[in-house]
Amino acid sequence: MSDCLFCKIIEGEIPSSKVYEDEHVLAFLDINPVKAGHTLVIPKAHGADLTESSEKDLRRVMTVVKQIAPTIKSVVKADGFNVTSNIGTAAGQSVFHTHLHIIPRYEGDGLAAWPHDGATDEERTALAEKLCGKIKRTSNTCCKRGENKCSL
Ligand code: AMP
Ligand code: ZN
Repeated sequence: MSDCLFCKIIEGEIPSSKVYEDEHVLAFLDINPVKAGHTLVIPKAHGADLTESSEKDLRRVMTVVKQIAPTIKSVVKADGFNVTSNIGTAAGQSVFHTHLHIIPRYEGDGLAAWPHDGATDEERTALAEKLCGKIKRTSNTCCKRGENKCSL
């Protein structure tokens, strides 16, 4: 896509600090890292976010995450890492080309955890049932193992 920043990085029109590249996937350091080693893993085929990317590309991206994240963790001597994807401006997405963040984390690094809204057992049960009912229409499977027991 001509006006997409990450497509321009893929095409080499904008420089990047690449850490991995193959036919379908590119990984490079985030220009404004949360922590050193903060890496973005992207499919080369443009999609605005992971809901638009093909399942094949998502598998490829996740395979690369699994492959490179332990090395990143080891090189920057992190204790763990987050793998995240922001989807939509409300979730903090600023570049609309599918990407997963690998963010190195350290014990006591002080990065604020998300606050929790909380939910009662009844609320969770009702919402799970509603979600499963909707999801099974598109995925052809059900949390009740296809027994068609969801109420929705
Ligand atoms: P998000 O906000 O989840 O869409 O993530 C986009 C990420 O891209 C941000 O963390 C930015 O710091 C990063 N970013 C923006 N421009 C560049 C660039 N030219 N090279 C590397 N990373 C970038
Ligand atoms: Zn793009």
